[in-house]
Amino acid sequence: MQHQVIHIHPQAPQKPALGAACNGCGLCCLVEPCPIGVVVSGRLKGECKALVWSDQAGRYHCGVLAQAYEAARPALDGRKAPWWRRLWWRWVHRMIAAGIGCDAALEAVSPVKN
Ligand code: SF4
Ligand code: SF4
Repeated sequence: MQHQVIHIHPQAPQKPALGAACNGCGLCCLVEPCPIGVVVSGRLKGECKALVWSDQAGRYHCGVLAQAYEAARPALDGRKAPWWRRLWWRWVHRMIAAGIGCDAALEAVSPVKN
């Protein structure tokens, strides 16, 4: 079993079981970036630079997906907007496997306190 030290927000929710709905615990994106995150972060390991903590929601968000959603929102609401914005949002959604549930086979262990 491999171990990796990460720094996670103290208010972050506990990681749900594999296959359960994603709750934004952030664990997967703190361990290593997804393919889009690799491009954004310029690295293969460690925290993704696009990961954003939300105090309001009490969870992490993907900054790339949030930006793509904002860009596509007019089109998603049925208003006029450049067609590529909707395509971009769909592509990001697919690339980061959003909405399919937690696919991270990881286990978080709290640090031992002396
Ligand atoms: S996919 Fe899983 S590990 Fe990643 S943020 Fe969602 S719940 Fe956490
Ligand atoms: S889902 Fe978003 S925040 Fe997570 S690794 Fe991918 S690009 Fe980064």
